[in-house]
Amino acid sequence: MSDRKADVAANLEAVRARIADACARSGRSADEVTLTVVTKFFPASDVRLLADLGVRHVGENRHQEAQAKAAECADLGLVWHFVGGLQSNKAAAVAGYADVVESVDRGKLLRGLSKGAHESDHVVDVLVQVSLDEDDAAARSGASPDDVPALAEQVAAADGLRLRGVMAVAPLGADPVPAFERLARVAEQVRLIDPAATWVSAGMSGDLEAAVESGATHVRIGSAVLGARPSDR
Ligand SMILES: *Cc1c(COP(=O)(O)O)cnc(C)c1O
Repeated sequence: MSDRKADVAANLEAVRARIADACARSGRSADEVTLTVVTKFFPASDVRLLADLGVRHVGENRHQEAQAKAAECADLGLVWHFVGGLQSNKAAAVAGYADVVESVDRGKLLRGLSKGAHESDHVVDVLVQVSLDEDDAAARSGASPDDVPALAEQVAAADGLRLRGVMAVAPLGADPVPAFERLARVAEQVRLIDPAATWVSAGMSGDLEAAVESGATHVRIGSAVLGARPSDR
């Protein structure tokens, strides 16, 4: 095993143990939580190595990089999650390779996503991204919680898209627990629209425990598995 693979394998094992511990503490089974490894800034060779280590879900946040990596790794049969800010003129292209688009925060994206899903002949799973910032002016991305039900209804009605649930990033520099609890309440409202929309994607390297304990079904982990991103070094 290469040094890189051994490092990533050890990190992966540690992250899986953190997820299992958080599940145990909250009386959940560890298989209720899906691990998506966010591979942004890391090369396709790392994606390949993750697949060898049993990872099935990978996440990317920039269209061009994601598209190139998904093409390079098409033989691996991975599930590609798009988790980044989305421009409406790129939405159709993203839906061409993404199996899951987690960052839908406005209705304007839906026409392009539907078109891309149709052209590539697959159904795209969609999560509505919810802003958890208390102060809208500081909001990074995501729909405000009040706007989520209407947006979720639009997703549910869109051709080629399947409403799966919600996604959020904890606010910077604030306790993630109340934020993830707010997210759980929004997720409940979305389940009233479609009871099958059960996914709650929350939790990153620094706060996965809080997310799992608040009911996350999906965690998105980058640096705890792959190390500091090249651009952050
Ligand atoms: C980069 C990123 C992650 C992973 O972040 P880490 O702190 O490295 O685990 C998760 N979610 C989104 C939306 C991201 O952009």
